[in-house]
Amino acid sequence: MAWDFSTEPEFAEKLDWMRDFVKREIEPMDLVFRGPGDPFDPRSKARRIMKPLQQVVRDKGLWACHLGPELGGQGYGQLHLGLMNEILGRSRFAPTVFGTQAPDTGNAEILARFGTEEQKARYLQPLLDGDIVSCFSMTEPQAGADPGEFLCRATADGDDWVIEGEKWFASHADMAEFLIVMCITDPDVAVHAGSTTIIVPRDAPGMEIVRNTAVGPKDEIGSGVHGYLRFNKCRVPLSNTLGAVGGGFNVAQSRLGGGRIHHAMRTVGMLNKALDMMCERAVSRVTKGERLADKQMVQERIADSYTQITQFRLHVLYAAWLLDQDKGYTHRVRREISAIKAAMPGVLRDVVYRALHIHGSLGMSNETPLMDMWQYVPEMGIVDGPTEVHKVSVAKDILRRVDPAPGQWPTYFVPETRAAALAKFAPYLDEEAG
Ligand SMILES: Cc1cc2nc3c(=O)[nH]c(=O)nc-3n(C[C@H](O)[C@H](O)[C@H](O)COP(=O)(O)OP(=O)(O)OC[C@H]3O[C@@H](n4cnc5c(N)ncnc54)[C@H](O)[C@@H]3O)c2cc1C
Repeated sequence: MAWDFSTEPEFAEKLDWMRDFVKREIEPMDLVFRGPGDPFDPRSKARRIMKPLQQVVRDKGLWACHLGPELGGQGYGQLHLGLMNEILGRSRFAPTVFGTQAPDTGNAEILARFGTEEQKARYLQPLLDGDIVSCFSMTEPQAGADPGEFLCRATADGDDWVIEGEKWFASHADMAEFLIVMCITDPDVAVHAGSTTIIVPRDAPGMEIVRNTAVGPKDEIGSGVHGYLRFNKCRVPLSNTLGAVGGGFNVAQSRLGGGRIHHAMRTVGMLNKALDMMCERAVSRVTKGERLADKQMVQERIADSYTQITQFRLHVLYAAWLLDQDKGYTHRVRREISAIKAAMPGVLRDVVYRALHIHGSLGMSNETPLMDMWQYVPEMGIVDGPTEVHKVSVAKDILRRVDPAPGQWPTYFVPETRAAALAKFAPYLDEEAG
């Protein structure tokens, strides 16, 4: 049946299992391993705990579910992935335990789509197996949202590319086995035709990590997992070109769509966790002789949060469903992904703020997960492109299909539309009523 919002019982059973497994086995890791890189870094002590859990996930047939069966995934599709990611979004470690962590998911996608057989054997397989970590590096210190301002150059020299320039906020660069770097290869044409994605092994000569950058104010300068990179005449073989020379923008675009929708799916999980906390607090805390839950202003916060989460969730699932229908990032899929990307920081801000506020001083403390969630509010408005850029994309796509009014007045100009309506119904209007 079309427009059916139900989940098949067999898949609902898997989701139930996941809910229990994430809560029981994975959420405790969030409490013990608090370093920003812990869920991703193969050098972290957390790896020893994660490995057997990853095997349990594999045995359950739930490993790397963003992938089609040809790449070792289950081929459940994006809608089912959306339901799964809602559960995984409740824990920082859960995506890695299930083999669906960014940026490796997107990197696997582009290696599968654009990689040569040799590149796939060397980089894709170990990435899919969860044995190595990868990085995607596009942003530069002087430019992020506008790739037209990128300067990092790659020049062909014999059998090599020679890369010169800087990159910024390259997540996981320090722990990655390889980086996929977007370089300008022809500065005389627009970036859409003059950029190329190149695979740079972490130990390539001339690849320097100037320092790591952390999100938030508290960590020491130089800590964190986002690399400030410098390429000092860094040499890599021409055979490390990923996709066509000049096709880098296309490669980058094709991974960012997936990254954005997966973030949105996981954000639903975080939102539901904040709502659960808000509700539990409301029925637990008593003030002025009644529970917070009995106060109308608190009820309003809970009702507004529930409504916003439900609207956002349905939009995310709709975008996932469209992606399944179109089997790729078509125009309409990209429009919906941009729309949910733009909505995400606002919903997160409203819901997490209410949850935090209802918890009072405890909400402000480091003794609940709420302040960690709060950090994601601005992050979700910037990562994978700022909100403004996505809103512009949505508006342009809508406006593209709209014609100007046929004459001086709008189509719904009442004097004209009423005149037409009166003419249409004239025979009835002339008759006596009854
Ligand atoms: C946690 C995190 C992880 C990241 N990981 C990676 C990564 O792994 N690899 C990578 O390459 N990058 C990564 N980034 C960088 C991210 O992609 C960029 O931050 C983003 O594209 C914005 O670029 P920028 O920071 O240079 O901001 P700018 O491009 O300078 O934009 C700053 C602000 O200017 C305004 N603005 C910009 N463009 C427009 C416009 N067209 N219209 C109106 N207003 C506009 C917006 O308010 C915007 O927020 C990460 C960022 C974060 C926060």
